[in-house]
Amino acid sequence: MRRTVSILRAGHLGSKRRCWRSAAAGAAVLGVMLLAFGAITSCQPPPRHPDASPPPIARPVASPAGEVVRVRLADSVDVVHVATTSSYRLSSGQALVASGQLPMGMREIRWAASQWFIDGRPVAGSKLEISTDADGLVTCDARSFRGTIVLAPVDAQHFSIDNHVPLEGYLAGVLARELPRSWHEEAYKAQAVAARTYVLYEMRHDGRLRHFDVYGDQRSQVYGGVVDETAKSVAAVKATANQVLVFGPPGHEHIFKAYYSSTCGGISNPAEGLEPQEEQVAALAGGVVCTDCAGASRYRWPTVQISKAAAFSALGTGYPKMAALGSLEKLRPQLPGTSWGRVEWFDIVGHDGRYERLRADDFRLAMLRYGPPESRGLFSMNCTVKDLGSTLSFEDGRGFGHSVGLCQYGAQGKALRGMKYYEILYIYYPGAKIMKLP
Ligand SMILES: [Zn+2]
Repeated sequence: MRRTVSILRAGHLGSKRRCWRSAAAGAAVLGVMLLAFGAITSCQPPPRHPDASPPPIARPVASPAGEVVRVRLADSVDVVHVATTSSYRLSSGQALVASGQLPMGMREIRWAASQWFIDGRPVAGSKLEISTDADGLVTCDARSFRGTIVLAPVDAQHFSIDNHVPLEGYLAGVLARELPRSWHEEAYKAQAVAARTYVLYEMRHDGRLRHFDVYGDQRSQVYGGVVDETAKSVAAVKATANQVLVFGPPGHEHIFKAYYSSTCGGISNPAEGLEPQEEQVAALAGGVVCTDCAGASRYRWPTVQISKAAAFSALGTGYPKMAALGSLEKLRPQLPGTSWGRVEWFDIVGHDGRYERLRADDFRLAMLRYGPPESRGLFSMNCTVKDLGSTLSFEDGRGFGHSVGLCQYGAQGKALRGMKYYEILYIYYPGAKIMKLP
């Protein structure tokens, strides 16, 4: 259920990997939020999906035209060095700037005073594209990519860098960055289906409102280009080719934003508080008990303390509106949170009692990006928050990441216990089905 409250939107803090929530054990005292972990550990393991049989599933789900993912590699740079490993084409809009049957040697491309310069020589046009043949790669500042590199001005002195890459090639580059090389192939396959679903959802939603579909970092999915591909990542993408997660009644299935994170710490969170959802998806309702990530280094983590002054400074940087509060006097949880006691929202209370409401995971992101060094240890908002006067203390920490959807360490644990990738996915996305793109 969506809360009808005045909120601060994540804005430039937007991220798939938002982490959130602590938890309030009902009548938690003095602003102390406490995850009712006893209740969690007493839960029974979730039942297997009634259809825990091999997928799919050859029913079509409409796919985006071309299935080319537009990945944002850099938001704002003033120079880049580009080369190709095979024949090339360098164009500005519809105009061909240069081409050749042999590889393009390293070229310096700079944007200055609203003008492109290639190796120091001015070139007309507003957007540059560098592409090569199907077997070739474009090297961009020492990283190699399939597909096309697109450079587009963002102001008079800076430009963005995007990689337009075929979907399956993109996924091979994502898996190798998201999972350790030693992990089980079934964990890789589960990750492949989740990542494919996630990016297709972004292509159909946020991607339609901007010039790229996903960020190449933790704001979306970490993507390293060709250099990061491994035999295991490529094999997992091929083994699950075109498979995606869907929900909905037969004949009306839709993909959904298949969130995942590193370590859930014991139970998954609902996506509702992560960011506004166009529709509520049962598969992302949270509450999936998981102990298979217990071996992860951040299944539990030590206390983190951040001064209120430093926290307020970080919040003001991430959310300029916060500065009007004057100070952070109290971090007040909004109850009741989830049924298992996690808080979804905080009120950031200033010196005169005024407050701004903020998602708990956005609070954490602001600390990570703009807070003091000790903030780096705030691995999730699944913790107990204590008010020590001038300091906030985050205790009893559990998990790493937002804990929505698939738990990566949990998936690895389940794979080691012999589960197949579709069984893993059915557990972390209850009620979801796997279907195949045409
Ligand atoms: Zn887990």
